[in-house]
Amino acid sequence: MHSIYNYTLEELKEQLKPSFRAKQIYNWLYKKYVTQFDDMKNLPNDLKNHLKENFKASTLKILKKETSKDGSIKYLFQLEDGHTIETVLLLMKKKKTNEEGVVEKSEKYTVCISTQVGCKVGCSFCLTAKGGFIRNLTVGEIIEQIVQLKKDNEIAENKALNIVYMGMGEPLDNYDNLIKAIKIFSELDGLAIAPRRQTISTSGISTKIEKLGAEDLGIQLAISLHAVDDGLRSELIPMNKAYNISSIIEAVKNFPIDARKKVMFEYLVIKDKNDDTDSAAKLIKLLNGINAKVNLIYFNPYPGTSYQRPTRENMINFQEYLLSKGLICTIRESKGLDISAACGQLKEKDANGIA
Ligand code: SAH
Ligand code: SF4
Repeated sequence: MHSIYNYTLEELKEQLKPSFRAKQIYNWLYKKYVTQFDDMKNLPNDLKNHLKENFKASTLKILKKETSKDGSIKYLFQLEDGHTIETVLLLMKKKKTNEEGVVEKSEKYTVCISTQVGCKVGCSFCLTAKGGFIRNLTVGEIIEQIVQLKKDNEIAENKALNIVYMGMGEPLDNYDNLIKAIKIFSELDGLAIAPRRQTISTSGISTKIEKLGAEDLGIQLAISLHAVDDGLRSELIPMNKAYNISSIIEAVKNFPIDARKKVMFEYLVIKDKNDDTDSAAKLIKLLNGINAKVNLIYFNPYPGTSYQRPTRENMINFQEYLLSKGLICTIRESKGLDISAACGQLKEKDANGIA
């Protein structure tokens, strides 16, 4: 049986006649988060039976849920074949003052989703890489992560939500499913998450960045750069030998980005490896001519790694150097550090039975 989340609205329309039924089903699935076909009240019984016999609307099981002090919630999902993936709901609380001068709290949601079980890229600092590559997620498994989080947290259908493809796996290595998922997410009769609210984070498969750019979807791009010279980058991301820094920069320059937006460069800061201002100076040169912003990430240590977390002082110095040269640079708050934030870490805890 197939997951109903695998299908675009057009595909459902082709399969189910009359075609307005597809819209109704989309409404139940993506605006009301209904997972039992029997509960889709405006559908005729024969259609409900057809759906029950041919499709599933619930394939991910919540195995574990951890809430961090800052309100972020990390989910460990079990897939139908028993493998597990992680999804994180990040809450950004903002205070704003309304016209009467009253302080109002507003919440912004961002969901970090996985695209693969494991990862082929094998970065030396990444816990997800340690278990090797198991398989690509299906389109339905990518989509259902968002549906389940919205349902579990009772997030209203019309509440703005951003997606970052920064969980487990390399999104561009699951290219076709990724493209289809972006389209299903943005369907107006469904979740209606526009491509400009979706950010793909990639370790830098240049050829796929070019291909993605050519599709001109209006998606946001984040590049996991992490190093300014090929020697260190190849140590951190072995794939850099095939797709080196200059090939990535070239691909980014060709990528269509909305004039008001910037390409994000993620820079994982590791103590005594890449945390010096010399590296910051090289980074300025490298990003010259690109409408870029930099996001510095503290390396998050785990048992068995030889890399270390940088000092706060080095982090601030690095940031200030970039800012002084006019490059926008933020430090990623370690959202949910107390719940082992970096990707792969919740899963690992589970496997070791530490948690
Ligand atoms: N494969 C894609 C997206 C998933 S990884 C990519 O590499 O971009 C998402 C982010 O988690 C990457 O920027 C990666 O550098 C970061 N990450 C992985 N291991 C980490 C760790 N131990 N500490 C902090 N960030 C880590
Ligand atoms: Fe894969 Fe990204 Fe982890 Fe590298 S950092 S191994 S690309 S998930």
